[in-house]
Amino acid sequence: MANKENKIARLAIDDRCEGCNNIAATEEGNFCSKYADPAFHWEGDQICAFATHVKREVKVNTKKLNPLKASKRYQGHK
Ligand code: SF4
Repeated sequence: MANKENKIARLAIDDRCEGCNNIAATEEGNFCSKYADPAFHWEGDQICAFATHVKREVKVNTKKLNPLKASKRYQGHK
């Protein structure tokens, strides 16, 4: 049976979270409503997946590929 006393410790938001709609303001401070450790989701160059204030660039390859040539190219690698 789950003990209600065993709650997950929530850490305060990271500086890069400022402006996100998932911030829950409480008396103890600002916390993320999605993640317990917001700073973890900003480590390195990564961008938080649930961030609402950051637009991520999606690279779309518009280069046309001739399937016949691609097939021949692939045959050459065997
Ligand atoms: S969803 Fe991401 S960016 Fe938004 S508050 Fe939580 S950790 Fe920060």
